[in-house]
Amino acid sequence: MISLKGLAAGVHHYVWTLGQDFFDQFGNRDLREAHVEARVALEKQADRMMLEVALEGSVLRSCDRCLGDIRVPIDYCAPVALQFGKNIPTEDWEQDGEIILLEPTEAELDLSQYLYDSACVSLPLQSLHPQGQCDPEMEKKIAELTVN
Ligand SMILES: [Zn+2]
Repeated sequence: MISLKGLAAGVHHYVWTLGQDFFDQFGNRDLREAHVEARVALEKQADRMMLEVALEGSVLRSCDRCLGDIRVPIDYCAPVALQFGKNIPTEDWEQDGEIILLEPTEAELDLSQYLYDSACVSLPLQSLHPQGQCDPEMEKKIAELTVN
C-alpha cells in the first residue's frame, strides 16, 4: 500500500517482503513457501507516476514429472506507469510497460494484485528438476507406468 496523498515530487523507494501469507490471499495452492522481495521505485512527475517494479525470490512448487518439491526462482523487473483519470494516454506518450489507471481522487495505491500477477507471470510454464534429479522412487513408478 502506497499512500499517494502528499507524496512529494521525485523518486520514492519501497521494499516489501511477500511471504506465503501474501500468496495465500490469492488462493494459489500451486505456490508454497514463497519468499519474494518486491522493490518499487516510484517517480512522481507532474501528471503521472512512473514505477519500476522488481521482484526477486523463490517459491516452492511441485515438479511436473515426479511431483517432488522444487524451488523455482522469481526474477522480474518491469516499468509501470500510473495515469490518473480515465483518459487513455495519448499516442505521443512513449510507453513500453504496463499502465495502471487510477481515479484522480485515489489516495492509496494497492499494488498487491499487480505484484501477485507479476510473480505468477515470471514463473516458468513448467517446473522440472534437472534431468536425472527427480525423485528416484517416482522415476521408477513412472517408468513402470510407461511400460504398461
Ligand atoms: Zn522431479
